[in-house]
Amino acid sequence: MIVADLKPIREIAESIASFKKVTVIACGGCVSVCLTGGARSAEVLARDLSHPRHYKKRPPTFDTETIQRQCEKDFVAAYLKVPHDTDAILSMACGAGVQTLAETFGELPVIPALNTSFLGSLDEPGIWREKCQGCGNCVLAFTGGICPVTRCAKHLLNGPCGGSSNGKCEISKDVDCAWQLIIDRLKALGRLDDYEKIFPIKDWSSDRGGGPRTMGISRVRDQESPAP
Ligand code: SF4
Ligand code: SF4
Repeated sequence: MIVADLKPIREIAESIASFKKVTVIACGGCVSVCLTGGARSAEVLARDLSHPRHYKKRPPTFDTETIQRQCEKDFVAAYLKVPHDTDAILSMACGAGVQTLAETFGELPVIPALNTSFLGSLDEPGIWREKCQGCGNCVLAFTGGICPVTRCAKHLLNGPCGGSSNGKCEISKDVDCAWQLIIDRLKALGRLDDYEKIFPIKDWSSDRGGGPRTMGISRVRDQESPAP
C-alpha cells in the first residue's frame, strides 16, 4: 500500500489561511489504512485546523468529504461532490490522489495535507515499512521474496557489501542487512544455489529515470497472449 504521513498542522494551516471555505477530501484507499485518510481522519483534521490559534485572521470554515479511490479520475468526476462555496480543496490522499483532484477540479486550488512516504506494508501494529520502489522489473523471484532494490541501502544485487555486520546494515544497527535476510530466507527455502548465481546487469529502463511511466491495459493483455 501507499504509506503517507500527515504534514505538520502549522504547515497545513499556513497553506489554507487565505481561503474562506476549505473542503477536506479524504481518500478511503491506501492512506486510510495508515490512518492518514478516511472519513474520521478528515473530521479530526478539520476540527484541529478550525482552531483560531493557527491563524492571524479569521480561520476558514471546513467541510469534509471522503472518496474511496482519490486516484481514479472517472470515479472522482462521477461521485465526488464539492460544496459550491468551496474556495480550496485540502486533499488527504497520496500525491497521485492530489493531482487527480487538481486535474478534475481545475478551477480550485488543491493543497496536499499529507507527505506521501513510500510503498510498504504493515509489519506490526502501527509500524509500516518500505518494501518496494516500483522499479518496473521485479527480482523477488531470485531473492527469496526480499527486495534488495528497496531494502539494501546500496541496491546491491549480488550479495552483501563489506559493511554487513551481525545481520545489520552499516547505515544503522537498527536496520537489517537486506542481503543477510535474503541469504537466511534462501537457506530456509533450500535454494542457496540461487545465491551463487551471478545476477546479470539489471535492466533499469523501466525504472523512474526515464520520466513518468505509463501502462495501458492493452500492453498487459499482449503480455498475457500465448506465443504464436
Ligand atoms: S525488485 Fe523492483 S518491483 Fe520488485 S519489490 Fe523491488 S523495487 Fe519493487
Ligand atoms: S550492509 Fe547489507 S543492506 Fe547495508 S548496504 Fe551493505 S549489503 Fe546493503
